[in-house]
Amino acid sequence: MAIKKTTKTPKKTAKKSTSKKTTKKLAAKKTPVKKRTTTKKVAKQTYLGEEAFLASIEPYKLNKKEKYMSAKQKRHFAKILERWKQMLQLEQDRTADKIQNNSNHFADESDRATHEEGFTLEIRTRERERKLLSKIDESVDDLNKGDYGFCVNPNCGVEIGIRRLEARPTASLCIDCKTLEEITEKQQYG
Ligand SMILES: [Zn+2]
Repeated sequence: MAIKKTTKTPKKTAKKSTSKKTTKKLAAKKTPVKKRTTTKKVAKQTYLGEEAFLASIEPYKLNKKEKYMSAKQKRHFAKILERWKQMLQLEQDRTADKIQNNSNHFADESDRATHEEGFTLEIRTRERERKLLSKIDESVDDLNKGDYGFCVNPNCGVEIGIRRLEARPTASLCIDCKTLEEITEKQQYG
Protein backbone atom coordinates (compact mmCIF):
# COMPACT_ATOMS: atom_id res chain seq x y z
CA MET A 1 0.00 0.00 0.00
CA ALA A 2 1.53 3.26 -1.04
CA ILE A 3 1.20 6.03 1.45
CA LYS A 4 0.89 9.42 -0.09
CA LYS A 5 2.11 12.09 2.20
CA THR A 6 0.10 15.19 2.06
CA THR A 7 1.17 17.92 4.35
CA LYS A 8 -1.39 20.47 5.09
CA THR A 9 0.66 23.27 6.57
CA PRO A 10 1.81 25.27 3.54
CA LYS A 11 -1.51 27.08 3.33
CA LYS A 12 -0.88 28.99 6.47
CA THR A 13 2.66 29.97 5.63
CA ALA A 14 1.73 31.25 2.20
CA LYS A 15 3.44 34.56 1.52
CA LYS A 16 1.35 37.63 1.56
CA SER A 17 0.79 38.71 -1.96
CA THR A 18 -0.48 41.96 -3.28
CA SER A 19 -1.86 40.35 -6.39
CA LYS A 20 -5.62 40.50 -6.40
CA LYS A 21 -6.02 36.96 -7.59
CA THR A 22 -4.08 35.42 -4.75
CA THR A 23 -5.82 37.49 -2.16
CA LYS A 24 -9.16 36.42 -3.48
CA LYS A 25 -8.19 32.78 -3.44
CA LEU A 26 -6.92 32.93 0.12
CA ALA A 27 -10.04 34.67 1.27
CA ALA A 28 -12.19 32.02 -0.35
CA LYS A 29 -10.31 29.26 1.39
CA LYS A 30 -10.86 30.79 4.76
CA THR A 31 -14.61 30.91 4.38
CA PRO A 32 -15.80 29.65 7.75
CA VAL A 33 -18.05 26.67 7.95
CA LYS A 34 -21.60 27.91 7.93
CA LYS A 35 -23.31 27.70 11.25
CA ARG A 36 -26.67 26.06 11.18
CA THR A 37 -29.30 27.53 13.37
CA THR A 38 -32.29 25.50 12.28
CA THR A 39 -33.30 22.82 14.75
CA LYS A 40 -36.93 22.19 13.87
CA LYS A 41 -36.55 18.97 11.89
CA VAL A 42 -34.02 17.35 14.15
CA ALA A 43 -35.95 17.87 17.34
CA LYS A 44 -38.68 15.50 16.23
CA GLN A 45 -36.45 12.66 15.13
CA THR A 46 -35.71 9.88 17.52
CA TYR A 47 -32.15 8.83 17.92
CA LEU A 48 -31.87 5.12 17.23
CA GLY A 49 -28.24 4.70 18.07
CA GLU A 50 -24.91 5.30 16.40
CA GLU A 51 -25.26 2.63 13.75
CA ALA A 52 -28.62 3.88 12.55
CA PHE A 53 -27.38 7.42 12.52
CA LEU A 54 -24.30 6.58 10.45
CA ALA A 55 -26.44 4.62 8.04
CA SER A 56 -28.62 7.68 7.53
CA ILE A 57 -25.72 9.77 6.21
CA GLU A 58 -26.14 10.55 2.56
CA PRO A 59 -22.88 9.99 0.69
CA TYR A 60 -21.27 13.11 -0.67
CA LYS A 61 -21.39 13.39 -4.44
CA LEU A 62 -17.81 13.95 -5.40
CA ASN A 63 -16.99 16.30 -8.23
CA LYS A 64 -13.95 15.17 -10.21
CA LYS A 65 -12.15 18.47 -10.12
CA GLU A 66 -12.91 19.09 -6.52
CA LYS A 67 -10.15 19.46 -3.99
CA TYR A 68 -10.15 17.38 -0.85
CA MET A 69 -11.88 19.22 1.99
CA SER A 70 -13.29 21.91 -0.23
CA ALA A 71 -15.67 24.40 1.38
CA LYS A 72 -18.57 22.30 0.13
CA GLN A 73 -17.17 19.14 1.65
CA LYS A 74 -16.56 20.94 4.91
CA ARG A 75 -20.18 22.03 4.97
CA HIS A 76 -21.25 18.45 4.32
CA PHE A 77 -19.39 17.24 7.38
CA ALA A 78 -20.34 20.24 9.50
CA LYS A 79 -23.97 19.36 8.82
CA ILE A 80 -23.46 15.72 9.77
CA LEU A 81 -21.64 16.61 12.99
CA GLU A 82 -24.20 19.23 13.92
CA ARG A 83 -27.14 16.88 13.36
CA TRP A 84 -25.45 14.13 15.34
CA LYS A 85 -24.68 16.48 18.18
CA GLN A 86 -28.23 17.77 18.38
CA MET A 87 -29.67 14.28 18.48
CA LEU A 88 -27.30 13.14 21.19
CA GLN A 89 -27.89 16.28 23.20
CA LEU A 90 -31.61 15.67 23.05
CA GLU A 91 -31.10 12.17 24.45
CA GLN A 92 -28.99 13.62 27.26
CA ASP A 93 -31.76 16.06 28.11
CA ARG A 94 -34.45 13.38 28.01
CA THR A 95 -32.59 11.19 30.45
CA ALA A 96 -31.86 14.12 32.72
CA ASP A 97 -35.58 14.93 32.80
CA LYS A 98 -36.40 11.34 33.65
CA ILE A 99 -33.96 11.34 36.53
CA GLN A 100 -35.65 14.42 37.92
CA ASN A 101 -39.23 13.29 37.47
CA ASN A 102 -39.31 9.57 38.03
CA SER A 103 -37.62 8.92 41.32
CA ASN A 104 -40.75 8.57 43.44
CA HIS A 105 -43.20 6.96 41.06
CA PHE A 106 -42.87 3.36 42.13
CA ALA A 107 -44.41 2.38 45.40
CA ASP A 108 -43.84 -1.33 44.77
CA GLU A 109 -40.27 -2.38 45.47
CA SER A 110 -40.02 -4.95 42.65
CA ASP A 111 -41.47 -2.56 40.09
CA ARG A 112 -38.91 -0.07 41.09
CA ALA A 113 -36.11 -2.60 40.79
CA THR A 114 -37.10 -3.55 37.25
CA HIS A 115 -37.42 0.05 36.38
CA GLU A 116 -34.03 0.91 37.79
CA GLU A 117 -32.35 -1.83 35.82
CA GLY A 118 -33.51 -0.30 32.57
CA PHE A 119 -32.57 3.05 33.91
CA THR A 120 -29.02 2.02 34.70
CA LEU A 121 -28.64 0.81 31.15
CA GLU A 122 -29.94 4.08 29.83
CA ILE A 123 -27.58 6.06 31.99
CA ARG A 124 -24.62 4.00 30.80
CA THR A 125 -25.61 4.67 27.22
CA ARG A 126 -25.78 8.37 27.95
CA GLU A 127 -22.31 8.22 29.50
CA ARG A 128 -20.91 6.62 26.37
CA GLU A 129 -22.67 9.20 24.26
CA ARG A 130 -21.24 12.00 26.33
CA LYS A 131 -17.78 10.86 25.35
CA LEU A 132 -18.93 10.77 21.76
CA LEU A 133 -20.28 14.29 22.12
CA SER A 134 -16.91 15.60 23.19
CA LYS A 135 -15.31 13.82 20.23
CA ILE A 136 -17.82 15.49 17.95
CA ASP A 137 -16.91 18.85 19.48
CA GLU A 138 -13.26 18.15 18.75
CA SER A 139 -14.12 17.37 15.15
CA VAL A 140 -16.09 20.60 14.85
CA ASP A 141 -13.07 22.47 16.21
CA ASP A 142 -10.85 20.73 13.69
CA LEU A 143 -13.23 21.73 10.92
CA ASN A 144 -13.03 25.34 11.94
CA LYS A 145 -9.25 25.19 12.14
CA GLY A 146 -8.99 23.45 8.79
CA ASP A 147 -7.44 20.31 10.29
CA TYR A 148 -10.47 18.07 9.81
CA GLY A 149 -10.04 15.15 7.46
CA PHE A 150 -6.29 14.79 7.84
CA CYS A 151 -4.57 12.13 9.93
CA VAL A 152 -3.41 13.56 13.26
CA ASN A 153 -0.41 11.26 13.51
CA PRO A 154 2.47 13.76 13.29
CA ASN A 155 4.45 11.29 11.19
CA CYS A 156 1.62 10.85 8.75
CA GLY A 157 -0.89 13.62 7.99
CA VAL A 158 -2.49 11.99 4.96
CA GLU A 159 -6.05 12.56 3.85
CA ILE A 160 -8.40 10.37 5.86
CA GLY A 161 -10.81 10.24 2.94
CA ILE A 162 -14.42 11.22 2.42
CA ARG A 163 -15.82 7.70 2.63
CA ARG A 164 -14.00 6.81 5.82
CA LEU A 165 -15.16 10.06 7.37
CA GLU A 166 -18.74 9.33 6.41
CA ALA A 167 -18.46 5.95 8.07
CA ARG A 168 -16.78 7.55 11.06
CA PRO A 169 -17.26 11.30 11.17
CA THR A 170 -15.07 11.68 14.26
CA ALA A 171 -12.12 9.75 12.82
CA SER A 172 -8.86 11.59 13.37
CA LEU A 173 -6.51 8.84 12.15
CA CYS A 174 -6.21 7.45 8.64
CA ILE A 175 -7.07 3.79 8.23
CA ASP A 176 -3.40 2.71 8.26
CA CYS A 177 -2.57 4.55 11.47
CA LYS A 178 -5.81 3.35 13.07
CA THR A 179 -5.05 -0.26 12.19
CA LEU A 180 -1.55 0.10 13.57
CA GLU A 181 -2.89 1.63 16.77
CA GLU A 182 -5.31 -1.26 17.22
CA ILE A 183 -2.56 -3.82 16.73
CA THR A 184 -0.36 -2.07 19.26
CA GLU A 185 -3.20 -1.89 21.77
CA LYS A 186 -3.90 -5.57 21.35
CA GLN A 187 -0.27 -6.38 21.98
CA GLN A 188 -0.28 -4.26 25.12
CA TYR A 189 -3.54 -5.31 26.68
CA GLY A 190 -4.76 -8.36 24.87
ZN1 LIG B 1 -2.11 8.24 9.26
